[in-house]
Amino acid sequence: MLADMQTEIEAARGLTYYAAWLKDSGKPRGSAASKAKLYASEMANRVAYKAVQIHGSLGYSRETDVERTYPTLASSRIYEGTSEVQRMIIARDLLGR
Ligand SMILES: Cc1cc2nc3c(=O)[nH]c(=O)nc-3n(C[C@H](O)[C@H](O)[C@H](O)COP(=O)(O)OP(=O)(O)OC[C@H]3O[C@@H](n4cnc5c(N)ncnc54)[C@H](O)[C@@H]3O)c2cc1C
Repeated sequence: MLADMQTEIEAARGLTYYAAWLKDSGKPRGSAASKAKLYASEMANRVAYKAVQIHGSLGYSRETDVERTYPTLASSRIYEGTSEVQRMIIARDLLGR
């Protein structure tokens, strides 16, 4: 689980840096930012869920960062453009519409 979590975090970081690099270098960005936002926010939820699972009952304890992080990350799929809206932007870019 830890290996999957770290791999997914690094993949999200790569997508994010790529979108930022496209903007900084003035290249066409297409839907790069939407791909980064979609993947990173969905990934954060998967990783947070695994973190809760790894900690067992402690994952539900208010004394841990794990319990505090999970609900905060759940809303990341909604604000600044929901995952569904990011998917629409990516699909439109893919289909040239
Ligand atoms: C913690 C949090 C912080 C927020 N902070 C801010 C903020 O600082 N500033 C701000 O302006 N807003 C903020 N929001 C609001 C947030 O951006 C909106 O809630 C979000 O954009 C969804 O809009 P809506 O609530 O009008 O729902 P709707 O647009 O009605 O969407 C409802 C559901 O339908 C889905 N949906 C909508 N259209 C389609 C479609 N065409 N195809 C498929 N599915 C679709 C959406 O993905 C969503 O799941 C915040 C929300 C949360 C949860």
